[in-house]
Amino acid sequence: MKRRRFLSKAGLAATGAAATTVVGCTQQKKEDAGQAPAAHTGKTYQWKMVTTWPPNLPVMQTGAERFAKRVGEATDGRIKIQVFAAGELVPALSVFDAVSEGTVECGNGAAYYWAGKVPAAQWFAAVPFGFNAQGINSWFYSGGGLELWEEIYAPFNIVPRPQGNTGVQMGGWFRKEMNTIADYKGLKMRIPGLGGKVVSKAGGTVVLLPGGEIFTSLERGVIDATEWVGPMHDLRMGFYKAAKYYYYPGWHEPGTCLEVMFNKKAYDALPKELQSILDAVAAEVNLWSLCEFEAGNGAALQTLISDHGVNLVRFPEPLLKDLRKLATETLEEEADKDPASRKVHEAYKKFKAQVGVWGSVSENPYYNVIADKYALKK
Ligand code: CA
Repeated sequence: MKRRRFLSKAGLAATGAAATTVVGCTQQKKEDAGQAPAAHTGKTYQWKMVTTWPPNLPVMQTGAERFAKRVGEATDGRIKIQVFAAGELVPALSVFDAVSEGTVECGNGAAYYWAGKVPAAQWFAAVPFGFNAQGINSWFYSGGGLELWEEIYAPFNIVPRPQGNTGVQMGGWFRKEMNTIADYKGLKMRIPGLGGKVVSKAGGTVVLLPGGEIFTSLERGVIDATEWVGPMHDLRMGFYKAAKYYYYPGWHEPGTCLEVMFNKKAYDALPKELQSILDAVAAEVNLWSLCEFEAGNGAALQTLISDHGVNLVRFPEPLLKDLRKLATETLEEEADKDPASRKVHEAYKKFKAQVGVWGSVSENPYYNVIADKYALKK
């Protein structure tokens, strides 16, 4: 305000008495319309953000760009974030290290990418048969999950925030029918994270492939199956041309959280109000991302069925039961390997039981009642 008054006075002095009223009015109108010149005297920050996503990947990379844009708007340009897609500044899987070491001020990805370095991180992205988006967000914002995540990333000088969610993913594209758990024996599937460990336990072979090689591998039969995200992203990848069966639900990723990470030193050096803006914008983009998936997936699924004749199949109930049993064993085994994972797993289970009690009389029965009203058109 002080600076604004000073500028206003300076304007009056420079333009002389004749123009005084006009200048004063214009200034006032601009202020009323929210177009006043920047009033703050604060320092400005030029930040770099590296991401794990390919350029233009909808919701993921465009979400990172949206975050940067909204931070610029909300801080009136005091924080300017330049966004780099995977490989533009650092490779996708070096994003965590780049933020940790302070090479860049922030990064964007999903916590399960760092499982090799921080096994406990996986619980903050996706857990097979775990939280959906509503559950994981409740854990983060109202159940102590975010504090625990901060504690796990603190030794790496990283401050994490949830910044997106895919919602329930699809089970994946299969070249053959999946009838029983025995069908996983010898199945070569591209499936990352804890879900991949469950597939291995069922006798499958987990194949790791960069995004750009999945389609060709599936088409040539180098792999028998792949999962990706949901209809909106899967349609874009063209998997319907390479595999006959599109299975649901995505038991392995029921609400994958996308993250924004800040280098702790860079974050701590900001004035409190700018930290608050970063946190608020992360929460805003978290909501936006889930809405984009909800809006886009339904339309894309209808296109896959109507225009491309995709065979949509639900995993048989007994098969899901068997996978769930293997997932429970896998999670306990992974938690046994590392004290931090055990701590996170126990907290996760406790909160899941708490929200599960409510979900079983609210969301679950409600969805079951309305399900038949939304049958897909062939
Ligand atoms: Ca996935």
